[in-house]
Amino acid sequence: MFKVGITGGIGSGKTTVCKIFELQKVPVFYADLEAREIMSSDEKLIDDVKAAFGADIYNTDGTLNRSKLAKLVFNNDSLLGELNSLVHPAVFRAFDKWVDRQTAPYVIKEAALLFESGSYKDCDATILVKSPHDLKIKRVIQRDLITEADILKRMAKQLDDSEKERLSDYILQNNEQEFLIPQVLNLHQNFLKLLGSNDSN
Ligand code: ATP
Repeated sequence: MFKVGITGGIGSGKTTVCKIFELQKVPVFYADLEAREIMSSDEKLIDDVKAAFGADIYNTDGTLNRSKLAKLVFNNDSLLGELNSLVHPAVFRAFDKWVDRQTAPYVIKEAALLFESGSYKDCDATILVKSPHDLKIKRVIQRDLITEADILKRMAKQLDDSEKERLSDYILQNNEQEFLIPQVLNLHQNFLKLLGSNDSN
């Protein structure tokens, strides 16, 4: 299966781009959503997280105490690294299982940390969604209950766009100056052509 990785900074428009691919019937695996999901369902991961962070990181009803975990890792890079080293491999496993069930000409994995997690190495092509810094901040403030300071802290934990650009095969500009949908449709046609697929959806 041909696998395309999509990434971009917080608020760049990754999910928006993926929704356009989905309209073209391309299956999308949302790695960050999956990570949230499996932290409450993957038995091995739950055991590993309890061993690393203490059993009380899960509530008595078995749900993850996300705010407690977030507080622990947000200002502690070593704990964040430890958490990622448990979660990322579990997400890779879930992705592999998901890919096995797909029948489309190609699939997409959307991940904020595609490069940082090493996940891109398993992709046949990578796309970076790029947006101007101020626009990303404006969009996230409009979308979430979050302060600019917190957005900047999150941005600081991600690779710079220049580094991501170097590692990406394709760039989509989501800057309110170039239309996004035609760029995505072009790329979709490009992948279908590359794969010799007759599927023109
Ligand atoms: P995150 O990493 O924070 O999840 P993301 O990269 O997935 O963000 P989106 O959620 O797709 O980004 O976009 C951020 C916000 O900006 C959303 O509310 C989305 O609807 C809006 N947005 C993104 N691109 C556009 C666009 N081209 N035109 C209008 N709104 C947009």
